[in-house]
Amino acid sequence: MTFELTILGSSSAIPTSKRNLTAHVLNVHERFFLIDCGEGTQLQLRKNKIRFGKIDHIFISHLHGDHIFGLFGLISTFNLLNRNKDLHIYAHPELENILNRYIEYFERALSYKIIYHYVNPKINEIIYKDRKLTVETIPLKHRIPTCGFLFRETPHLRNLRKNVVEVFNIPISIIRSIQKGKDFINEDGETISNSKLTFPPYKSRSYAYCTDTAYSEKIIPIIENVDLLFHEATLAKNMKKQAKQTFHSTTTDAATIAQKAKVNKLIIGHFSARYKDVSPLVDEAREIFQNTFSAEDGEKHSVELSRE
Ligand SMILES: [Zn+2]
Ligand SMILES: [Zn+2]
Repeated sequence: MTFELTILGSSSAIPTSKRNLTAHVLNVHERFFLIDCGEGTQLQLRKNKIRFGKIDHIFISHLHGDHIFGLFGLISTFNLLNRNKDLHIYAHPELENILNRYIEYFERALSYKIIYHYVNPKINEIIYKDRKLTVETIPLKHRIPTCGFLFRETPHLRNLRKNVVEVFNIPISIIRSIQKGKDFINEDGETISNSKLTFPPYKSRSYAYCTDTAYSEKIIPIIENVDLLFHEATLAKNMKKQAKQTFHSTTTDAATIAQKAKVNKLIIGHFSARYKDVSPLVDEAREIFQNTFSAEDGEKHSVELSRE
């Protein structure tokens, strides 16, 4: 029941010797979701032993080069490897035109199908849903249309207490309804309350990805109480003016959002290449939100199961 984020790249605009460009992978129960795909993503997937064949869904926040240049190589590699599974890309509609021109020139035909899911970055809506997970857009404030993504496990069922099925002779066909919270009425017509049969369910875990963006309080109700928040902090707090001009955030901005949204843990990243050492940036954020960490290429952040 894994819920684990791997940071593949944490630099903004240009790569450095220690930091690749933005890309994250979220593993939800061994399904892998790629979020943004900066240059160098293929190599980072290899280094982190994430199999290419596991990537079926790619979410793109916006069409700035530092978030998509890795897609070109990845699409070609999938082709060289004779991929045949569909690849789903969730992005601004313009990406389809850009990729089509690239594919026509360099690949002619692909061994697999790309299915585009156009996102509307202006609204908060569900864009992906399966049995275990939903993904919602988070409208962000950047120079071009941009959205973040909120990944949330679908609510877990209640857990059965030990041996209750045998002890109360519960038919298999109604176990699911009991896990959903129903009481059980046995053959003699006696009601056995649900609390005698089940434990509270595990909390559904969540990850919010917010880059690139200026400070925007509008996102707070959407990301409230998430377990894990990635919020860009391209610049230190003394660069407030420049952050505003370029529609990016400072450490203070990121930490204030984390604090106001009452998230559990904040990861800051998308660092400007001017910062060789980002520990002062983490310190700045911690003045406002203590549970802050820097995004580091190759590092993982797991959210463990806990009960409600
Ligand atoms: Zn960027
Ligand atoms: Zn950008």
